[in-house]
Amino acid sequence: MNILLINPPNSGKSIPEEQYGIDGIKMIFRGEPLALETLAGNLDGHDVAITDLKAAPESLWDDVERLRPDLVGITGVTCEANAVLSIARDLKTHSDPIVVVGGHHASSDPEFFNREGIDYVVAGLGKRSFRELVDALAGGRPADGIPGAAGTDPGGPLRLTPRKFTDADLVDDRPPRYDLVEQHRDQYVMSGVGGKIGFVATAFGCTHRCAFCAVPNTTGGRYLTHSVDAVMRDIALLGDIPLVRLTDANTFGDVRASEALGRRIIERGWEKKFVADVRSDTVVRHPELFSLWKTAGLATAVIGFEEISDERLAGYNKNTASAVNVRAMEILQDLGIRIIGDFIVSPDYTEKEFTALERFVAAHAIDLPLPSVLTPLPGTPLHDRMKDRITIHDLDYYTFLNAVVPTRMPEAEFYETYAGLWKRFLNLKHE
Ligand code: SF4
Repeated sequence: MNILLINPPNSGKSIPEEQYGIDGIKMIFRGEPLALETLAGNLDGHDVAITDLKAAPESLWDDVERLRPDLVGITGVTCEANAVLSIARDLKTHSDPIVVVGGHHASSDPEFFNREGIDYVVAGLGKRSFRELVDALAGGRPADGIPGAAGTDPGGPLRLTPRKFTDADLVDDRPPRYDLVEQHRDQYVMSGVGGKIGFVATAFGCTHRCAFCAVPNTTGGRYLTHSVDAVMRDIALLGDIPLVRLTDANTFGDVRASEALGRRIIERGWEKKFVADVRSDTVVRHPELFSLWKTAGLATAVIGFEEISDERLAGYNKNTASAVNVRAMEILQDLGIRIIGDFIVSPDYTEKEFTALERFVAAHAIDLPLPSVLTPLPGTPLHDRMKDRITIHDLDYYTFLNAVVPTRMPEAEFYETYAGLWKRFLNLKHE
């Protein structure tokens, strides 16, 4: 089959900008589409291409004309869901390929895509299930009943058989097709870290289930790790790119596997730097692991501190405490590992909580603090809890920079305070 995989453009709307003329609060994603490269890696025997509309926003129709795909796969996170729908419908009008949608939003709320313009939805890690779907379609066999994939039935319920994800879904022996986006390589950079960057996955899913997080939905709550050999192979495939972003939401969730990987990287003698997402409690329980990884090249740890209040941390089911966050920072700073810290600003914040957060950040010298606004993503426990309060249902606003429930402060004041915090945080310079 002729298959085109599409990464949608940077999407999303901004209430601060539209309502209050506050600009500059934006997240632009400039990384490579690893999820699509990963799918492509398991589609040997088919002709596969990737259109990355984040890197080349105007390239869609040229690529469609040139490649004439039989099947198109589109990925997307929640704030891209409307863009995915729009691309799917335009494709149907243009040349009517089979349209399959997957990615984070399809994994968390597959029913959203049970609409005209979309033929199949793939929920959760799709490296194997998408391949099974493609093979069934290419062979003229019924595609119904493949766990994790479902044919759409607009007007009726989506009949999706849940998939029990296992290590087999990682298809460890098939590397990502980095070559399919090679022409955009110079554009793949990471803000806050700088420089040309390549993406490698060591694990999928998570060991935890934080109330706001969609990651556990991608693996049915399982935490699956690639073999050390597979990760080493993928890093090597990136060639001389000096900076590697380990894209897993929780890289060190399997301490033994992480230790083995760190040792192999050291043995290999690479002079590469790594950026990885880390839970603070892992740092505190296993400081020796981070000492090893410092030697391996871990330059920046991205930590979801989320909150400075233990009560709110418990409400998010984060399963850690503010004191643990502080201790983790001390350990990482002693090791010379930079810290990017994610914080969640609740729409319930008043001036008092904003001030407390700013003082906390100032006191702990976090290299790059990133404050997002609490967003109840469909398909998460937080959404179930907050759904009656949600007043904004247009997913274009689910960028983590808008309040989709009423704010406790007057809204204009909330966004002015948030914008001030955002700008001061992003301009912080620590010695
Ligand atoms: S926020 Fe991090 S630790 Fe919590 S479930 Fe998501 S990935 Fe796991």
